[in-house]
Amino acid sequence: MRSVVLVGGGQAGAVAARTLRRRGYDGAITVLADEPHRPYQRPPLSKEYLAAADDSGLELLPEAWTTEHAIEVRTGTRAAEICAREGAVLLADGSRIPADAVLLATGARARRLPGLDGDGVFGLRTRDDADGLRERLGPGTHLVMVGGGFIGAEVASVARTRGAAVTMLEAGPVPLAQAVGARLGEACARIARANGVDVRVNTRVDGLRTGTRGLVVRTSDGDLEADVVVVGVGAEPNVELAVASGLEVGHGVLVDQYCRTSTEHVYAAGDVAEHPHGGRRVRVEHVDNATRQAAVAARNMLGEQTPYDDPHWFYSDQFGRNLQHVGHAGTHDRMVVRGDLEDESWTAFFLDDAGLVTAAFALDAGEEIAVARELISMRLGVPEHVLADRDADLFEALEEVG
Ligand SMILES: Cc1cc2nc3c(=O)[nH]c(=O)nc-3n(C[C@H](O)[C@H](O)[C@H](O)COP(=O)(O)OP(=O)(O)OC[C@H]3O[C@@H](n4cnc5c(N)ncnc54)[C@H](O)[C@@H]3O)c2cc1C
Repeated sequence: MRSVVLVGGGQAGAVAARTLRRRGYDGAITVLADEPHRPYQRPPLSKEYLAAADDSGLELLPEAWTTEHAIEVRTGTRAAEICAREGAVLLADGSRIPADAVLLATGARARRLPGLDGDGVFGLRTRDDADGLRERLGPGTHLVMVGGGFIGAEVASVARTRGAAVTMLEAGPVPLAQAVGARLGEACARIARANGVDVRVNTRVDGLRTGTRGLVVRTSDGDLEADVVVVGVGAEPNVELAVASGLEVGHGVLVDQYCRTSTEHVYAAGDVAEHPHGGRRVRVEHVDNATRQAAVAARNMLGEQTPYDDPHWFYSDQFGRNLQHVGHAGTHDRMVVRGDLEDESWTAFFLDDAGLVTAAFALDAGEEIAVARELISMRLGVPEHVLADRDADLFEALEEVG
């Protein structure tokens, strides 16, 4: 293999570049990044980078490192088509780059809502989005956050620390209910409310107009004046390149457990990849998934046969609290709470019919998520009363069953 092209300057593209070099690949590596910036991390965009424009630690592939390792990062460069038979990637400017293998790491973009755009209205996906939004969040401003998901709560949290008033609109009866269930979603909403966020549920947004003082958001519950509106209603995968290249696409770019797409020598990883996991196909928008999956894809490009089947994990920092989730709960799984959902810290475990942990969600209890991750990946059972008992040592219990 003489030349690898990594399409997408995000988490997955950057990790693949690092893995290829660390595993000894010495051919050409080109990272194509359509944004004007060198590859950077996205999680800080709704947290510390939004709070203060400190970009130290944001970069994923510092220039000194890519120079030393002979990796070419081409910013402002969009791939238009993968021409697998010719062994090339066609760029939007009409030029071509030779490619013996390609990683599609094109990520996702913020979903938009019809009628919700214009000055003062933001999605939050890029560094430029965060820079524009930060300027609008300050004392005396009113943010209307459309969407009560994790990013919505993180933006609300930063806005509150910057002195803004925040109204959060959630279309369903409980924020986060689809992700973690109604009881845990309610526990998260309590934290937001305790930090001064006006969380309004069962509230649909119908449109936007300009009023005398700024924006007016039309909702099913009446009009709301706002200085700034953030639309945080999920993301859509960037599948255009895959479609143009004739790859199989479902809810994302379809890959097998080895991160291979339907076209030989073309791999996909990260937010764009729909992959097999626990008997179903999923597309996951978490940084840990992008990291691990891209590392596996890079190893398989080099001739390994490593399956990607790690439990999915994500975190969220909001209102000075840390939330972590691992696994996938089935719709009929039982929930066992360690602690009390009114406490400062708790962990909820989800168990299947066989009593095995399928997922866990924790508030300020990351070490218990680490145990849950082991239990899920090794398919080990710990008695329910031990999981529920705050005084029982979970690491000890893990050692006993492991
Ligand atoms: C604000 C925010 C906060 C987040 N917080 C968390 C968190 O707390 N915890 C967590 O687990 N996850 C979080 N995430 C999710 C996490 O950042 C993503 O899962 C991760 O960035 C996915 O990496 P990726 O490489 O697949 O895609 P991306 O990071 O989206 O990178 C893809 C890149 O490819 C570019 N591209 C697309 N098409 C082309 C093309 N044809 N040619 C060239 N370039 C192209 C895109 O413009 C983009 O720059 C957050 C995401 C956002 C936006």
